[in-house]
Amino acid sequence: MRIKTLSPVTINRIAAGEVIERPASAVKELVENAIDAQATRIDVILHQGGRNLISITDDGYGMSKEELELAVERHTTSKLNETNLLDIQHFGFRGEALPSIGSVSRLTLTSRRKDEELAWSLTVDGGEKGKTIPASLAQGTRIEVRDLFFATPARLKFLKSERVEQQHTVEMLTRLAMAHPEVAFTLSTENRVLLKAPATQGTKEERRVERLKSLLGQEFADNTVMVDSEREGVSLSGYVGLPTFNRGTASAQYLFVNNRPVRDKVLLGATKAAYLDFLARDRHPILVLFIDIPFEEVDVNVHPTKAEVRFRSSGTVHGLITGAVKNALQTAGHRASTTISQAALNSFTPHITPTMPSVQPKFTYTSPAPSSEARERSHQYQAPSQYYTAPSPIPATSSPSATTYEAADAPLGLARCQLHTTYIVAETTDGIVIVDQHAAHERLVYEQMKQDQQQNGIAKQHLLLPEIVELPAPILDKIISYRKQLSHLGLTVEAFGENAVIIRETPALLGAANVQQLIKDIGDDLLEFSEGVALAGALEHVLETMACHGSVRAGRKLNIEEMNALLREMESTPHSGQCNHGRPTYVALKRDDIEKLFGRR
Ligand code: ADP
Ligand code: MG
Repeated sequence: MRIKTLSPVTINRIAAGEVIERPASAVKELVENAIDAQATRIDVILHQGGRNLISITDDGYGMSKEELELAVERHTTSKLNETNLLDIQHFGFRGEALPSIGSVSRLTLTSRRKDEELAWSLTVDGGEKGKTIPASLAQGTRIEVRDLFFATPARLKFLKSERVEQQHTVEMLTRLAMAHPEVAFTLSTENRVLLKAPATQGTKEERRVERLKSLLGQEFADNTVMVDSEREGVSLSGYVGLPTFNRGTASAQYLFVNNRPVRDKVLLGATKAAYLDFLARDRHPILVLFIDIPFEEVDVNVHPTKAEVRFRSSGTVHGLITGAVKNALQTAGHRASTTISQAALNSFTPHITPTMPSVQPKFTYTSPAPSSEARERSHQYQAPSQYYTAPSPIPATSSPSATTYEAADAPLGLARCQLHTTYIVAETTDGIVIVDQHAAHERLVYEQMKQDQQQNGIAKQHLLLPEIVELPAPILDKIISYRKQLSHLGLTVEAFGENAVIIRETPALLGAANVQQLIKDIGDDLLEFSEGVALAGALEHVLETMACHGSVRAGRKLNIEEMNALLREMESTPHSGQCNHGRPTYVALKRDDIEKLFGRR
């Protein structure tokens, strides 16, 4: 075997293989160059998803003829302080992007320096550098990338459809635009504007809010809580979504370190931990978080596209995020997202069709005095609590009349009726509230169990007839190995023969829960979660599962007193606006909105 030196073009193509994965990565490099050049507006054009043409025009300080020629050489940069490689003040510093892109495409750079009369243009075709010629351009730089990957057909084959590639660029530019509200961005295709973010005005915070609104919509502004926190020189700011404002993937988690978009495991792990209590395992929060950290505390040079970073003390960063996000959600109290009531309202919009009889309505509203039918129904609502056999967490302590007086202006109002034995409808001073009784009660049981666990321990009830549950081997092993922890959570489990466990005690709050199903569900939790997250996390899931089993089911009849007790307890319980799976526990409709529905406003 003979060892030989690779040609510069080959070296650049290998580098391109790492840095330029797809059109979106070229856009990222070029936009970051424009930002480094202090541009105030950046316009991006894609043809065929970026495969035919990527064009990026900025109004930054530009390059002279000599700079232009140097810029496309490998390892040439104006940005690195070679005495301290961690001292990174710019987005670029490796001097790789332009030569890499030039080696796999037909790259044309046109630029005019601030103080010069003439613009210059230079083309690099598959790594072959052409002549620098005079050109015309206003101050700034235009970079055009044609036929990306024409010189590396293998990479070309990996490109996805035009639409998918285009979407990757939208995502990338969205992230960059979030981090730079002072810069105006546009992204357009042959026939469409995909993104338009005008420059913003005002203080740093005002600019950020304005930019986030223009990128993510008013909905984002309405359904997020501000985070602003600091620990040991690391600061965290941004906006986190209410748990009910969630997504099926983690793609709406926008994370930045020193204003650089990152997808970092430490950070994603921390946000996951912060929402562990509030979201189902397959739901993800929507959030935008900026971490600012002294440059010597973080290494951004561990990944060719700088998407991952390494923190010197990742514990501090993790703790800062989980603490601050949990705190922010706490202050949001029992607020559920507006999207939910908006969606409800939209579906309420009356459908008046021409075929509707306009003269004689089928049903007439006669008088406020209850009809005999209505009286009978209201009698039913006040049926004694014999139907409701769940254990205590719905306290019936105060007398009904006292509850009535107090509740008149309570946030969740006065319970009026139960519908479909599932929903509680309450009247508030300025509207109505509809509560999902199972979701709400589940949250209350969970919070109660968590509190008990931290204080006096979870009270157990002895089962008169111990329950034997047969289980598949992997689940059985898990349950047995967690025997001690389960006992702390109120569940006494022992092995029983080869393939079963025997349950002698369960948490008292669960009442007459279905023990068979409970144990199977807990086994699933342990199997799924004891690998990934810390023990505490897995046990929180077990607790959630217990709460779900212990709560009043949909389909159970409640009397007015019990309903009011549930509402009052929701008001005094943190996080009661959503159930343990991130679904809302209630929706509120304002009287104003209801009146709009009926054309009264
Ligand atoms: P890096 O950004 O790591 O320095 P690049 O290959 O991306 O490496 O760019 C090389 C050099 O070209 C930069 O250091 C900068 O001086 C110059 N340059 C690139 N793009 C622009 C631009 N849009 N405006 C002004 N200068 C630019
Ligand atoms: Mg660069």
